[in-house]
Amino acid sequence: MVETFHSLQGEGLHAGRSAFFIRLAGCDVGCPWCDTKHSWPAEAHPRRPLADLAAEASAAAAAGAAFVVITGGEPLQQPLDVLCTALASAGLLLHLETSGVGELSGRFDWITLSPKPHQPPAAELLARCDELKVVVTSAADLSFAEAMAAEAGRLRAPTGPGPVLLLQPVWNEPAAQELAVAYVRRSPAWRLSLQSHKWLGVR
Ligand code: SF4
Repeated sequence: MVETFHSLQGEGLHAGRSAFFIRLAGCDVGCPWCDTKHSWPAEAHPRRPLADLAAEASAAAAAGAAFVVITGGEPLQQPLDVLCTALASAGLLLHLETSGVGELSGRFDWITLSPKPHQPPAAELLARCDELKVVVTSAADLSFAEAMAAEAGRLRAPTGPGPVLLLQPVWNEPAAQELAVAYVRRSPAWRLSLQSHKWLGVR
């Protein structure tokens, strides 16, 4: 367990909403621009009792959090069933943020899939995610985003809803911001996602 905190969701379709975050330790995906590299070594972080986490999440919900976000690290590097059961039994809505590398476990009310070109996601996550959020660092990421969207569509029922499609420029890179903004301007299927918590200087 890296950290827990109550803040606003900064990214994606639920940006701006009150949320309680549980950041799990451990990630082998190795994105060069990762902003949570301290989370990578699982053994560097302490374990926490499930009951404590559920109590903390319930207190955050009582204080206004609309949902719990399980993030990392890469949360799917560990089975999430027991954690989800403990949190759901406290009546909390659960969101997952994952790169899709690993087997889906646990039960979630919202899944954010942020696929990475160097380690593509499992088909199950592409078929199940509620939003597809692709980080943009270069023009190649735009092609990758379209390929992921097409694959997500192919894996779903023809008449079923697809995921919300989001392009998120990597933080503090004006060229990436310009690429993403220009692409969304000419591509009505896509939305821009900004890391609003970083712009605001909050967690
Ligand atoms: S998957 Fe997430 S936590 Fe892991 S390296 Fe990539 S951005 Fe960082």
